[in-house]
Amino acid sequence: MEEKKMHHFRCLVCGYVYETADEKLPDDFVCPLCGVGPDQFEQID
Ligand SMILES: [Zn+2]
Repeated sequence: MEEKKMHHFRCLVCGYVYETADEKLPDDFVCPLCGVGPDQFEQID
């Protein structure tokens, strides 16, 4: 079974952390808590 490296992105506004297998957020991603776009997220790992 293949193990996937997950990436995490944190919302700079509200602190929400999003986990994804992708290395970047989609352009139309919005924070489910505060509604900001991917430009307000920082990559953690
Ligand atoms: Zn947020």
